Amino acid sequence: MARRKKIYEGKAKILYEGPEPGTLVQYFKDDATAFNAEKHDVIEGKGVLNNRLSEFFMSGLNAIGVPTHFIKRINMREQLIRQVEIIPLEVVVRNTAAGSMSKRLGIEEGTPLPRPIVEFYYKDDGLGDPLVTEEHIIAFGWASQQDLDDMVALALRVNDFLSGVMMAVGIKLVDFKIEIGRIWDGDYMRLVVADEISPDSCRLWDIKTGAHLDKDVFRRDLGSLTDAYTEVAKRLGVLPTNVTHPTKPTLIN
Ligand code: 5GP
Repeated sequence: MARRKKIYEGKAKILYEGPEPGTLVQYFKDDATAFNAEKHDVIEGKGVLNNRLSEFFMSGLNAIGVPTHFIKRINMREQLIRQVEIIPLEVVVRNTAAGSMSKRLGIEEGTPLPRPIVEFYYKDDGLGDPLVTEEHIIAFGWASQQDLDDMVALALRVNDFLSGVMMAVGIKLVDFKIEIGRIWDGDYMRLVVADEISPDSCRLWDIKTGAHLDKDVFRRDLGSLTDAYTEVAKRLGVLPTNVTHPTKPTLIN
């Protein structure tokens, strides 16, 4: 039996060579990590939920003209994506103070921000993904000024889309992280949303109760991560409402 080629293995996903040049298969693992992988667990069913949720968000973005790497879901844990050259920056958009921004600046979690704030973090596990400014990014050649302008515009469009989708199902989008990649078309380059969009990379709070429906449940030991992600998936119509065993979600095709 032919064995497919593994291109990269990260903390939560594996990338395999795709069926055609320029494509990859993205496999969602059940591994959950936090604090630069100091905390690690395997949470049965997480990969299935994130594959489905990322498909939902990315295909929605594609449909409104925000380009992403997503082509199609292949099965429970895998999706076909376009191969991109990942820009080594995490782009974080915040609507409400929380997490590292609250800690760094002493702003109480839950404080609404007067406008969305876009931040860049340099992707380097050894350095703990430090916050960087546009000056650093340009000086060290991680992206050009044009790329930065396009990345901010892309991130804000993703924010508008995700905020609306989540608000419609009673969830506040507090903040999120995206990664952005370059796709080359001959001499032309365009930026697309890459990696994943899921409760692993967003902060999602129930509007009525304030309950956390994201990876903070794991980071802060707040209960069952699968229950939280299943709740998000159910509200978005990605899973049927009669799921009885949260660790074994049933997918609708
Ligand atoms: P913070 O900077 O407050 O820790 O994170 C801001 C937002 O970006 C949160 O929604 C968080 O989940 C997401 N985020 C930041 N860094 C990472 C990361 O390395 N991996 C993932 N999955 N999400 C991240």
